[in-house]
Amino acid sequence: MNLTSKTLIAFILLFYGLNAMAQTAKADFKYWTWLTYDQKKKDKEYNKLFHHLRENGIDAVLINTNGNPDDLKKMAGLAGKEGLEVHAWIMAMNRPGDKVALQHPDWYTVSREGKSCYDTRPYVDYYQWLCPTREASRNHVLGLVKGLAEVEGVASVHLDYIRFSDIFLPIGLLPKYNLTQDTELPEFDFCYCDVCISEFEDMHHKNPREMEHPELDIEWRQFRLNKIKAVVDDAYKIAHDHNKILTAAVFPYPEMAGRMVRQRWDKWQIDEVLPMVYHNFYNEEIDWIGWVTQQGVNDLKDTGTGLNTGVFIPAIQPEEMAQVIDQAKQNGAKGIAFFDANALTDEHLAVIKSSKKP
Ligand SMILES: [Zn+2]
Repeated sequence: MNLTSKTLIAFILLFYGLNAMAQTAKADFKYWTWLTYDQKKKDKEYNKLFHHLRENGIDAVLINTNGNPDDLKKMAGLAGKEGLEVHAWIMAMNRPGDKVALQHPDWYTVSREGKSCYDTRPYVDYYQWLCPTREASRNHVLGLVKGLAEVEGVASVHLDYIRFSDIFLPIGLLPKYNLTQDTELPEFDFCYCDVCISEFEDMHHKNPREMEHPELDIEWRQFRLNKIKAVVDDAYKIAHDHNKILTAAVFPYPEMAGRMVRQRWDKWQIDEVLPMVYHNFYNEEIDWIGWVTQQGVNDLKDTGTGLNTGVFIPAIQPEEMAQVIDQAKQNGAKGIAFFDANALTDEHLAVIKSSKKP
């Protein structure tokens, strides 16, 4: 064999090697969907749904059982049987109708106006946010995380509403609430409870309740960012102690999440994030999905945290689906997550399925 044919063979091997690698990378691009468990639905219906999702290319389901480990166990069994990866989706700091928490009015966040989320709820009645600083309220949330982490057949605990209530709503939602938000308004600014204020005062020797412009105090902002991070970091330990990973649904990109809801997810100890890149909420176009994905991926560089782009299916036409998937794929996401399973039509699923073909 002469040198030329050796080189040729080397090139052929290299080509096939690279091609195989590209195929693996493509196959690894994960398709997720969020799903809320409905007690009224029969197991048979779930068998059918999970089969349908799997058959059309969905790899993972994020299931909200309202923190109930028994329901999760049942659903993990049904979804697992169809070959779906299961994630335990939980509403973390916003706990509407939480019967245990409701016994403790002092667990809830308090606004700059001094009103508690326990009975004065911002925007909507289901906004019932717990304080991330108080020992008892954060332990309650972490206890729920532990309960879900103990369930067999679950890949991750998936934190949602892991933040403060919105200081700024997404711009596209403001008309719905007939609101103008051109500064941090006191009724949407939390947590001014006694525990938060005294802990902050001990640390920084100043009192946000007495500040004329607490929205300009960087330590006060950082204090609250750190309190959410501390809950996440503890949840990470709990999940990993049970051989699970930790994932979360977060606001589009870190700087935006920090300003809107006090959520700097690029600083967290977490395995995967699923930013909710819901372009229509922000009056943006489909190419924004790619830009936001890239921003998040860049911000996570060197952290070891993976990013999967979350998209809002009711605002996406089936004929736009291929472009949406491409926006995530071409900008460094490890996967794409669809909100939610109910909104996925057969037409959407057909595009998902065909996008998986090599
Ligand atoms: Zn507080």
